[in-house]
Amino acid sequence: MALFSKAKKTQFEQLGIIGCGLMGSSFALAMKRAGLVKRIVGYSKSPSTTAKALQLGVIDVEAASALQAVSGSDIVLIAVPVAAIESTFKAIKHLITPDMLIMDVGSTKTDVVDSAQRVLGSLVGSFVPAHPIAGKEVSGVENADVNLYNGRQVIFTPMGRTLTAQLSRAESVWTALGCNVQSMSPEAHDAAFAAVSHLPHLLAFAMMNSIGAQKNADDFLSLAGSGFRDFTRIAASDPEMWHDIFIANRTQLLAQIDTFKQTLQGFEASLLASDSIKLEAAIAAASKRRVQWHLTQNSE
Ligand code: NAP
Repeated sequence: MALFSKAKKTQFEQLGIIGCGLMGSSFALAMKRAGLVKRIVGYSKSPSTTAKALQLGVIDVEAASALQAVSGSDIVLIAVPVAAIESTFKAIKHLITPDMLIMDVGSTKTDVVDSAQRVLGSLVGSFVPAHPIAGKEVSGVENADVNLYNGRQVIFTPMGRTLTAQLSRAESVWTALGCNVQSMSPEAHDAAFAAVSHLPHLLAFAMMNSIGAQKNADDFLSLAGSGFRDFTRIAASDPEMWHDIFIANRTQLLAQIDTFKQTLQGFEASLLASDSIKLEAAIAAASKRRVQWHLTQNSE
């Protein structure tokens, strides 16, 4: 009930979605269901994607360009791969006004904030950089999910020039969609996500390639069980999106690869020396940390 009255207060006339894929389309569906917006205009790189979004009822109107999706909108969501965010800012900046709320959903934040400051100039205050910790290993409008954001964290990485009024509007939108919002610096965000998201994805990709390069790969894979399935689920993720994330957060990711290599070498050294005490202690430390982390997650 409290959410409903908040939603009514923050109703928008028109939402412009740039990038009608998984994240953008799920946001559109959730905004519509929450009654937060009257009309949704969408644009995607391929006209066929935008047409599909219209056909599936995700958007109400197709736009022929990013600029057209912004025209007449009082809220805009940029949901394109992170490497396309700067060119999107360039394409829309002529129509941004101080009372328009612009957000992104990019998985990296230092590069996005740098682009916003470089391209948007004095209009940067309307932009609230956001990363919803929600998603799937499948992409595209056909996988849009009205419940994708429900109960999830959204991280804001505001800049010094971000308007306080826009920040609180952004917070009320995500809260009305059932999210918990927290803020941090773009650098702290990218360091944390290099560790808990970017490296795990890279390891899942590397695992599949490491097995795939062996001549008995198919035989081995035919025997794999649920542990392998859990560990490699994210290796099925979208190549363009993950390429962009790895490049955008290259420095932090390389630091995590370095730390990981040292840990792996520790396991290797224990095996080479048949040092059961060290090997078991390393496994026990990992197991204890995983159990504790899981308990914290479930108590939140
Ligand atoms: P997606 O399903 O592949 O959707 C991306 C959409 O962006 C596609 O519709 C694509 O259009 C469109 N696009 C690409 N370049 C464009 C451009 N220059 N102008 C306009 N549209 C463009 O990907 P997604 O999973 O929604 O990811 C979108 C963003 O969310 C990324 O920045 C990603 O880092 C972030 N994110 C993703 C997840 C996740 O788990 N998926 C989680 C958190 C954050 P076409 O269909 O025409 O190619």
